[in-house]
This record gives sequence, structure tokens and C-alpha cells, in this order.
Amino acid sequence: MSRFCTEIVESILPYVPGEQPQDKAYIKLNTNENPYFVSKMAVEAVSGTTLEKLKLYNDPEATKVTNAVANYYGVESENVLLTNGSDEALAFAFMAFCKAGKTAFADVTYGFYKVYSKIFDIDTTIIPLQDNFALNVDAFEKFVGNVVIANPNAQTGLFESQESIIKLLKSHPNNIVIIDEAYADFAYYSAVELTKQFDNLLVISTFSKSRSLAGARLGFAIASKQIISDLKKVKYSFNPYNVNTLTQILGEKAVTDVEYFSLCRDKIVATRESLKAQLKSMGFEVLDSKANFILAKHSAISGETLYKKLKDNGILVRHFADERICNFVRITIGTDEQTNVLVDKIKGILKGEL
Ligand SMILES: *Cc1c(COP(=O)(O)O)cnc(C)c1O
Repeated sequence: MSRFCTEIVESILPYVPGEQPQDKAYIKLNTNENPYFVSKMAVEAVSGTTLEKLKLYNDPEATKVTNAVANYYGVESENVLLTNGSDEALAFAFMAFCKAGKTAFADVTYGFYKVYSKIFDIDTTIIPLQDNFALNVDAFEKFVGNVVIANPNAQTGLFESQESIIKLLKSHPNNIVIIDEAYADFAYYSAVELTKQFDNLLVISTFSKSRSLAGARLGFAIASKQIISDLKKVKYSFNPYNVNTLTQILGEKAVTDVEYFSLCRDKIVATRESLKAQLKSMGFEVLDSKANFILAKHSAISGETLYKKLKDNGILVRHFADERICNFVRITIGTDEQTNVLVDKIKGILKGEL
């Protein structure tokens, strides 16, 4: 640390991204990326784009991709803001709305909520998940302040019904309710429709998981025109050109190619269900994830050991040190081929052969 560092930055525990090894080719099932290539329509559109365009600034309003997202969700363009990954949308939202009063989120959830709260000096309340890892909806209902929820939840993959979301919206009429839908496509769900009825709802989502564009960095926020206009104020005070030219083109095509999107999503969901069944038959406890990953544990091997042994055998999964989930590993759903290799390796490890 330099002698110039502020107290907040000095004390912060930054978000730790999953490993992104650049040296060796692993079967990479650790950061919930999509195993399938982005839509061909997107690839063709960028390869036809002259790089000459990059000498000019990109469209700060990201007009075409904004319109395409609005069209996909059946809202107006003024209800949508595109961002540099959904992490940026979350950061803008925490900056714009969470300073007022307290802000609550679960103990086991996306790690960035805690990090943003710290860096923006936000007063937080942690509401632990129930013993079965379900969201404690009653406790959230009673809590007075802003609410941040990932649905399906990060790390557990568990899904909360629309009924619960409506309860939270109704019990917090004077606070923002942020629903992070990074994995919602894999649950065949979105709360976006509710933004027409509830002016306190902010839905945030991403192209990183269900649309195969993690490295292009594209996310979005959907809410009332007033909320989006507040978020835009933050964006134009921070990073006006937040979505680069190539990403705008890729995103527009990726969201327009509905057929290819549905095909990939359905394949991932089918693989997820088959992996759940296979792991259960091997004696694993598997949470009923509706996301593109599953959290699983086995009484014969610790989460950390399984993670390490899989890594030695060329497969990367994610292990978290948090006390409540340290016995589990989180496995991203890959292709069927990757999943077959994974299952074979796990069998070998459990038999003590690997
Ligand atoms: C992956 C993820 C994000 C961030 O995605 P970006 O790549 O920044 O768009 C946000 N929330 C949750 C719950 C995630 O798992």
C-alpha cells in the first residue's frame, strides 16, 4: 500500500475473480461462462465491421443494442441502460440508490454486493439464508431499507418465485429492490414485466452467462424511466463511453438471434438436469439449481480436496472458503462432452484411483 491510500481502500477486501488460467488448457467449469460460441449473426457482424471505426468514439447511448434489448423484453428504450458488464450496472445502482438508509442482502450470494457496499460506504444488513439455503423472504419483508437479491441466487442456484419477488416489492414501497438476474434465463424467468407495475424495481442482467459474451463485457439494467435516468446520470459522471463499439455490435446481434439463444439455453438446462441426476446417483448432495451451475457436496471428500483433485486432472471448478458452503464445489454446466469427462474423473477420484 502506498502512503496515499485512503482508509476505505486500505480496508477493502476486493472481489476475487475465479481463476482464468492463461498457461494451460483446462476444462473450464469454474466461472459460469457459456460453453457454446456466440451467435453466428454476431460473429459475422463484427467481422464485417471495419476496424477503422475504432478510431472514433463509440455511441455513448449504445442505441442499437439498447433498442434490441428493449424489443426483446417488450419495454421502451428509455427503460433500458447498457453497461460494461452487469457489475457496472450494479456499481451504478449501489452508487445511485443504496446510500440512503440501510441495504440488505443474503450471507451466501454474489460477492460483489459486499465489495460495492464497502467501497461506496453503504450501511448493510446481512440476512442469512435459511438452513436449506432458501432466501429468508419473511426476514427480507420485515427489513426496512433497500434490498438486493440474485435470482436465481449466486452460489446456490436456488430460484425464488415471482410471488416472493412481489412480496418484497410490496413491502418496500419507498426503497429500491434490485433483482440481479445474471442466471434468470436458465430458470426461464424474468421479473422485467413487473417493472411496469412497480416503480421501485430495478432488474439487472448480463450477456456473460446465457449469451456467451463474458469477455465482451455487456450488462444491462431495466426499470422505470426515472430509475434509468438516475443511473444514466451516474454513468455520464463516471464513464460515458462504457460499452465499446465491437461489444455494441455483438450484443445487438446476440439478443436478436432468439432461435440460437434458445437452443443453447435449452442444451445447458438439459445437461444441468442430467448432471444433477448423475451426481446424486454417486452419493452427492446437490442443490436444486435453476442456473447454469450446480453446488454439490459428497460426504466422502471435502470441497477443497475435490476441487484440487479435479484441477490436477485438468478440470477447473470453483471452491469457496465461506463456512456455509466450504464443503461444496460449484460446477459450471459445460457441454455434454465436458460433463462426461467430469463425471468420469469424479468417479475415479471417489474410488481413490485419481
Ligand atoms: C456473473 C455475475 C454477475 C456479473 O456479470 P458480468 O460479467 O459483470 O456481467 C453479476 N451477478 C451475478 C449474480 C453473477 O453471477
